[in-house]
Amino acid sequence: MSAIAHARQELIHAGLVLEHQGFGDMTRGHVSVRVPGNPAHFFMKPHSIGFDEITEENILTIDIEGEVVGGTARPHSERYIHSEIFRVRPDIQAIIHAHPLHTIAFSATGQALRPLNQGGAMFSGHLPVFVETMDLIRNKAQGAAVAACLGQDNAVLMRSHGVAMAGGSLAEAVVLCVMLEEAARIQLQASAIGLDGFAFPPEDVAALRQKLTRPDQYQVNFDYLVRKAKRAMRL
Ligand SMILES: [Zn+2]
Repeated sequence: MSAIAHARQELIHAGLVLEHQGFGDMTRGHVSVRVPGNPAHFFMKPHSIGFDEITEENILTIDIEGEVVGGTARPHSERYIHSEIFRVRPDIQAIIHAHPLHTIAFSATGQALRPLNQGGAMFSGHLPVFVETMDLIRNKAQGAAVAACLGQDNAVLMRSHGVAMAGGSLAEAVVLCVMLEEAARIQLQASAIGLDGFAFPPEDVAALRQKLTRPDQYQVNFDYLVRKAKRAMRL
């Protein structure tokens, strides 16, 4: 399989996992991956369909200015989240914007994410929050503001809206979305009873973070999530 065919297949698979994980919020989420060999272009899910309805026929090709250069489907108005992050982060190959329930609930608390579980260790101290608006991101300037808030991290919480997740691969972006949603849910549930102030040493949290960020482990877990989603969806 060519690198381009593989990237398009991974985009379809990422959509299946994101829907199966419950991150769909009807048709509102989107996912993209850079075109192999052409870093100024990216493949992206179109508007008006669910994460699980991406096909070879409806994938759009969009350039770094946010213009559609391939495909006929309607593009998401929020494509500038993707184009502007790709513009300033050459290390990033894939981007997801989704509305996971617990991630949004957590974003509305104004609390910092704590290392209450391993996912929390991944994002503790690495989770900037975008607060300029809870509305859609509809132009380059707003997309650039989200990208600036993201900085050099992988995730930016968009308060009372969702998350933008950037990864070195689709596998990384998808797995990080799952880990963030779990960490947010755990902190919400633990906070409901009350946190006692206990904390592991910061150097232990940082060391765990290093272990969890291995590319091969992202791919292993992504491939499993794809198999699991396909089984559940009887594909
Ligand atoms: Zn959104």
